[in-house]
Amino acid sequence: MLEHSFSCPYCWQNVSMLLDSSISNQNYIEDCEVCCNPIQVSLKFNNTQLIDFQANSIEQ
Ligand SMILES: [Zn+2]
Repeated sequence: MLEHSFSCPYCWQNVSMLLDSSISNQNYIEDCEVCCNPIQVSLKFNNTQLIDFQANSIEQ
């Protein structure tokens, strides 16, 4: 597992998440620990190296 910090797209607070580095392509929704809004997370690992990370607000 890898801890990754980023800015929440809603409240812009710095939040951190634990990422599972054993799965190369991931797409999921996780609630912000500060404002509880749903963040769309897209990330990519290459041999446990995080090569892409995006955290977006959910499109209405
Ligand atoms: Zn937030």
